[in-house]
Amino acid sequence: MAQIIDGKLISQQIKDELKEKVAELKEEGKEICLAVIQVGNDPASTVYVGNKKKACEYIGIKSLAYEVPEETTEAELLDIIDKLNKDDNVHGILVQLPVPKHINEEKIINAISPSKDVDGFHPASVGALSIGQKGFVSCTPAGVIQLLKRSNIEISGKECVVIGRSNIVGKPMGMLLLRENGTVTICHSRTKDLKEVCKRADILVVAIGKPRMIDASYVKEGATVIDVGIHRDENNKLCGDVDYASVEPVAGAITPVPGGVGPMTIAMLMNNCVEAGLN
Ligand code: NDP
Repeated sequence: MAQIIDGKLISQQIKDELKEKVAELKEEGKEICLAVIQVGNDPASTVYVGNKKKACEYIGIKSLAYEVPEETTEAELLDIIDKLNKDDNVHGILVQLPVPKHINEEKIINAISPSKDVDGFHPASVGALSIGQKGFVSCTPAGVIQLLKRSNIEISGKECVVIGRSNIVGKPMGMLLLRENGTVTICHSRTKDLKEVCKRADILVVAIGKPRMIDASYVKEGATVIDVGIHRDENNKLCGDVDYASVEPVAGAITPVPGGVGPMTIAMLMNNCVEAGLN
């Protein structure tokens, strides 16, 4: 039986630790503030933004909501970001992605001051991660590292295989595992013999974006399997990129979906906000 890595519990511990820190800061007269900008009213984005607001409320972080219409121009959005960059009372800025097609996402990400880039998407943040300097780290992969550490799973010296090389999950995941002294392989759609590469892994992080694709045939006996994927299956049930029923009997430890990586993303966003406030 695999150890079930409980992301719900671990994320709650992190949020409670942050709540205490935020209360201490408040006593010193400092109120941490996150500005969240949502352009348009994509239903999924509205849910994500709502969850971020709720987490801020729980921890005691002030959240400023900028809910602007779909027709907002790129220049108008850049103007909002510029004002928030200059506002000393705002510590973190987050633009909920995706933005509407008429807005250049890259321009928006680049406009956020790296010192307020709590999503960790700015090229300066990504660059800092790759050369081991201080900077914000993308929340989902940062959450995976916390799951491993707080479950006492050793990373140093381990064969770590990441499936996926996206800018927000796969690539920073690889860099973080390397920073923790793992021996890292990053796989993608052109990888030959994906199964064979995955079977080498002591720690397998799956961010492939394909429902239940990774079954037991990809997993070494006793490996730790981290499932980043989130999907709704044909029965509207949440599932991951890993076929949990097939992999759980083989794995040494595994994250469920829901209740694994998912809740960690917001917890790490809150962590980044508190760090931004301390800078
Ligand atoms: P992307 O679609 O951006 O990236 C998927 C990656 O998987 C790509 O690098 C792609 O390779 C690779 N890939 C696709 N098919 C194959 C294949 N057959 N063999 C090997 N590699 C393959 O996804 P994201 O990184 O944004 O997200 C991954 C998953 O994580 C999704 O399910 C998403 O919903 C979920 N997610 C969950 C979050 C959370 O908070 N829990 C946050 C963010 C994402 P190539 O680059 O060659 O195309």
